[in-house]
Amino acid sequence: MSTVAAVNLSEPLRRLLGPDRVLDSHSELAVYECDAFVIEKHCPSVAVFPQNTAEVAAVVRLCNDHGVPFVPRGAGTSLAGGGLPVGGGVMIVLTRMREILDVNLRDRVAVVEPGVVNAALNKRLTGTGFHYAPDPSSQGACTIGGNCATNAGGPHTLKYGVTVNHVLGLELVTADGEVMQLGGPAEDASGPDLVGTIVGGEGTLGVVTKIWVRLTRNPQGVRTMLGVFDSVDDATQAISGIIGAGIIPAALEMMDQGILVAVEAAFHFGFPLDAEAILLIEVDGLEVGLDQQRDRVADICRANGAREVRFAADERERLQLWKARKQAFGAIGRLSPSYCTQDGVVPRTKLPEILRRIREIGGKYDIKIVNVFHAGDGNLHPILLFDERHPEEIQRVLAASGEILDACLECGGSVTGEHGIGLEKLSFMNRMFTGDDLDVMARLRDALNPNGLLSPGKLLPTAGACGMEQVHPGRRAPL
Ligand SMILES: Cc1cc2nc3c(=O)[nH]c(=O)nc-3n(C[C@H](O)[C@H](O)[C@H](O)COP(=O)(O)OP(=O)(O)OC[C@H]3O[C@@H](n4cnc5c(N)ncnc54)[C@H](O)[C@@H]3O)c2cc1C
Repeated sequence: MSTVAAVNLSEPLRRLLGPDRVLDSHSELAVYECDAFVIEKHCPSVAVFPQNTAEVAAVVRLCNDHGVPFVPRGAGTSLAGGGLPVGGGVMIVLTRMREILDVNLRDRVAVVEPGVVNAALNKRLTGTGFHYAPDPSSQGACTIGGNCATNAGGPHTLKYGVTVNHVLGLELVTADGEVMQLGGPAEDASGPDLVGTIVGGEGTLGVVTKIWVRLTRNPQGVRTMLGVFDSVDDATQAISGIIGAGIIPAALEMMDQGILVAVEAAFHFGFPLDAEAILLIEVDGLEVGLDQQRDRVADICRANGAREVRFAADERERLQLWKARKQAFGAIGRLSPSYCTQDGVVPRTKLPEILRRIREIGGKYDIKIVNVFHAGDGNLHPILLFDERHPEEIQRVLAASGEILDACLECGGSVTGEHGIGLEKLSFMNRMFTGDDLDVMARLRDALNPNGLLSPGKLLPTAGACGMEQVHPGRRAPL
């Protein structure tokens, strides 16, 4: 796709929003040239910061009038290049729409603007006895608008469900600049489930400007434990054992030795550095019977070879464990300058096989791979470590990533559990879906995005591309 820098919307956008909320200098735009998928970079021609729905709609209409593509962006933590402005165009950054508009505990609903940071909502709910359940590990930075677009998951979505299970309604600016509301504060909206269609639409079906989210009552009790294993295989067998015993933990996360070393250096939790894997397991619910459930999980871990099971002694220790898990990605900076996180899914029973395959693939391409992931859902996050200053290393990372995702498909899984297709995984869509499947999806997108100006080049492969749309590393936009 060619760049659209030739159509300069800077001045009309400044007239619309004021000079402070329009960026168009190369040095300022460099911040927006990539998201957390650092391998591919595209610079927008201009970035704007609307503060309300009417401004978003006006920007969208202006783009339509001039045939200029536009892309919504939240915090830019997408790991799939979802927010990249392919070919340039206007980036609509929603982080200044960050008001929590209402918290209604009686109806168990909160109304938020799209730029509200996920963790900010739970901070506001502290002490109310309620929380917002979807908790991506990036929750300290990512926005609820971005979470809707990607249908984000997180450690506790094993038991509580992903974002779509917690969104009751949306206000949306359509691709041609109309404002519409889908669903709302009430449960069970009538008509087709358009909220469920937009959530997970990866920003290709409209710009979300307001969200009604369901609030969940806090569990009466929580028990958190750490299973320490000398072998990755044993740890993965324990996961199947726990779920197979009919227990659905609130969270069931795994970290392997590679990531443990970095996390321990960062947080000094006292993780055993000689362990090959640890499981972070949490059960919650009514106090009655919770200790028995915790003990049963611990027994299953021991029966599957855990050399030790530690219980978090108090809330402080529990929070420290979660801090270590949720900030594990931050600790990776101790291991390498750049990383690429994959997001495959396999049936839980295939975890031992896929982790063996990932080790082999890392060896084959001479790329160090560490693992920290939502093991209970079979949702893998192999993290490939590299240095982006070495182009040849990036090629090996891309080849290894492709092979890992191939292996997930061979195991009967999928190429994304929660990060989305974005730009990164377009070439896999033809492998996961038939031509007819993709045609129906494209017709749905075209109905809502008729001019193709909203988030072009994402989620669905270009018709006739035969699965060959590849990631193009590097800085391709004019800088
Ligand atoms: C360290 C780390 C840990 C992570 N852990 C998790 C995890 O546990 N679970 C998980 O699911 N993901 C995780 N992610 C990925 C990422 O945080 C999520 O995909 C998140 O939902 C993106 O939110 P964002 O605000 O950063 O959106 P962005 O990255 O800015 O955008 C993501 C997509 O949403 C679209 N979009 C953004 N805002 C809107 C809007 N208002 N309307 C329409 N479309 C919009 C964009 O166009 C883009 O396609 C992690 C990322 C990092 C870096």
